[in-house]
Amino acid sequence: MRAIKLTGGTVVELDPPRVERRDLVLDGAVIEGEAPVAEVVDCTGCLLLPGLVVGHTHAYSALAAGMPVPPEPTRTFKEILEKVWWRLDVALDEASLLASARVAALDAALSGVTCVVDHHESPSFIDGSLDVLRTAFEEVGIRSVLTYGATDRHGPEGAQAGLQECERFLEAVEGAALTRGAVGLHAPFTCSDDTLAQAADLAARTGAWLHYHAAEGPDDQAAARERWGERLFHHLEGLGLLTERTLLAHGVDMDPGEGEAVAASGAWVAHQARSNMNNGVGYAGRLAYLPKVALGTDGIDDDILAELKSAFFRRRESAGPTVWPDPVGALARGHQLAAAMFGAPLGQLSRGAPADVTVLAYDPPTPLTEGSLGAHLIFGASSRHVRDVFVAGRPVVRDGRPVGVDEARIRAEARAAAKALFARMD
Ligand SMILES: [Zn+2]
Repeated sequence: MRAIKLTGGTVVELDPPRVERRDLVLDGAVIEGEAPVAEVVDCTGCLLLPGLVVGHTHAYSALAAGMPVPPEPTRTFKEILEKVWWRLDVALDEASLLASARVAALDAALSGVTCVVDHHESPSFIDGSLDVLRTAFEEVGIRSVLTYGATDRHGPEGAQAGLQECERFLEAVEGAALTRGAVGLHAPFTCSDDTLAQAADLAARTGAWLHYHAAEGPDDQAAARERWGERLFHHLEGLGLLTERTLLAHGVDMDPGEGEAVAASGAWVAHQARSNMNNGVGYAGRLAYLPKVALGTDGIDDDILAELKSAFFRRRESAGPTVWPDPVGALARGHQLAAAMFGAPLGQLSRGAPADVTVLAYDPPTPLTEGSLGAHLIFGASSRHVRDVFVAGRPVVRDGRPVGVDEARIRAEARAAAKALFARMD
């Protein structure tokens, strides 16, 4: 493949932070390879960042804006699940899921995201659902790690079908360039002991990652107390569901001893400040003391730079003005998570790294240095500056427009699919 050369821009590395004026050659497989240059892209006045990563989201909820409101007000997190999200996911069929996933993949790419870790549920359409998501992400041209969240909330057959979909998909994506599979659970409080044990076994047997919600609201800890007589994360540890190939979403309700257990296990946690605020579940303050925390969007707009700002402000609000969170580290840990899940050094704009790059047309109004990079990410740059996105050396977004898909058509088809989906929800 012929290479693309990005000239005149400022290359930003996140881990460790580095800011440097230099050119980048993307040859498809690696950055700064030896391939002849086919196209030169002028990046004067631009920042070149390692492609951004969403550590946890739900492509199935991309059509949620404007959906029917719950028949009566929601009073608890469980009622938000029952009256909002579980009404939406059960109404999804193949066509509406594809429309939703195309919007999610498109919005992620337009926000500068090159890799999405997705957690999926569509109880009326399980078998083959991950193929539908894969189609959408690969059409747009970005990376994804896909899993089905197995759950017993539609009986043990539903849980089995979910785990089978994970296992089928893990085989289907073997050797794929842009896509990976994982083993998924919804959340411990909606899973039987048998389902939890089977998920741990499947992950151990296949070497796959585990991806599930844990302690998002109070329900997981309440169920752990009732069912097992111990705190949730200690029980998960005993079940083999806390390993260095585990990604937990949320971890809001976590005590200091549980935090230590999660850290010692090497498990990753995805933090979604905006979703937690929206659901009123409280602040996940324990996560500030854990080493492996990446940011996710939890189905809200796939804009990780917006999420970064919210996480920053929420931490400052909670911890007080003497605490200065590290936005550069927060983005860098997203790359570390994606690299671990992909088995490739994503996030490094250096020789031998996969050529995933986000170009921001952000010409800083004050000097940009390693020391000021974090402040520029919070108070200056945003996803409105995303100009170009390259994944594995291929252009995915150019001049703010998707390269491989028709944006207007995706949005028009989504509106039609949403109308039918909302009618099924009512
Ligand atoms: Zn989630």
